[in-house]
Formats: sequence, C-alpha cells, structure tokens
Amino acid sequence: MSAEELYQEVIMDHASRPRNFGELSDPTVRIEAENPMCGDEITLYLQTSKEDENHIAMAHFTGQACAICTASASMLTIKVRGLDCQRALELSRTFQQFLSLGPDEPSAPAIPIGDLKVLEGVRKFPMRVKCATLAWHALDQAIAEIARGGTQSKLIEGEIGPEIPSG
Ligand code: ZN
Repeated sequence: MSAEELYQEVIMDHASRPRNFGELSDPTVRIEAENPMCGDEITLYLQTSKEDENHIAMAHFTGQACAICTASASMLTIKVRGLDCQRALELSRTFQQFLSLGPDEPSAPAIPIGDLKVLEGVRKFPMRVKCATLAWHALDQAIAEIARGGTQSKLIEGEIGPEIPSG
C-alpha cells in the first residue's frame, strides 16, 4: 500500500466515524464555522478545565461537511484535548503552514503534527485546503474568544476574489 493510499484510508476512517462528534452540554466556547466554497458547516465546542481556563479539557464538533473537513475536525478534537491554549495555537499555526506549502515542497513541521500529515494531499487542491483548515480556523477563533471572555461566535471563510457578473 502506498503512503497516499494509507493516508486516504485514515481520512476516510475519520470521515465515516468522526471522533468526539456531538454537542458539549456546557462548553466554554462554541464557534460556528462555514466554508461557503464547499458547503462545509461545523460547530466546534471547547471546554476548558475548571482549575485552569487556559487548559483545553475537551473538544467536540458537530455539523455537515465533506470528508476532508470532517476528518480534519475529528483529528483536531483528539489533538487539542489536554493542551494549553498556547500550545494548541502553535499546533494550529504549524498545521496551516504545512498545508500552505506547494505539493512538491518537502517540509519538516516546526513541531510534530503526527497523523495530521495524512492531509498533505490537499496541498495539490487549493480549494480543499479551505476544507482542511476550517476547523483549525474555528479553533484559533475559539481560543481568541476564551482570551476575551467570550462564549460564542461565528466564522465564515472569505470567498476567493469578487464574483464576476455574468452577461
Ligand atoms: Zn469541504
């Protein structure tokens, strides 16, 4: 089995059986995120620990999204659980940088990203990068909300360029 086939299998596994899928009853913060380019709509829930609001105790998500977006969100909820907000932001930044490289650019992420590496195939498809990063943009916003004492907000990914009127 090639690495690419293996990666595909991991993605499909997360997409068909997303981990930590479902609302959190008492989240610290809740972010609705939309990627209109694909139609992905997810809601990310973070719960910080009672003793330390900088510590992510639990992450869940719900929504309707494509396989790439769902798999990325599923992996996010596993990765950020137990991390401090600062560390989660570093992971998010590293992952987003990793996906912003060209398909043939070698890369050694600044910090280990583990099985998030399976999403590297989307680099070939800039439209799909938005699918893979939606949950991470929601995470960035969730942590910003926590810092300012907010509890929820909404995020809509910007469209690429203005619409060209027809006719
Ligand atoms: Zn998508």
